[in-house]
Amino acid sequence: MNSSLIGKIQKARRYAQEPERAQFQSLHVQFQGGHDVYDVRLDDREWSCNCHTYESLGTCSHIMTMERLLAAMIPADVEASDRIPVAG
Ligand SMILES: [Zn+2]
Repeated sequence: MNSSLIGKIQKARRYAQEPERAQFQSLHVQFQGGHDVYDVRLDDREWSCNCHTYESLGTCSHIMTMERLLAAMIPADVEASDRIPVAG
């Protein structure tokens, strides 16, 4: 194998240990929920989902799951969906 390609593979292995290097700017996932398949998106620093919970609460378990799965790869200025709103 080409020696420079070997170097790239080694670099990729090292980078893969540091997922924060890759920051999602947009994302579209088909999420298999308990009863249906939902479209979860990240666009313009905001999450959205087409489920009923998101419609009424502005967040949902599908988004919260994506945040947990991709934690280090979600830009810091994207607001966390499971933050409990402070009254007042
Ligand atoms: Zn949802």
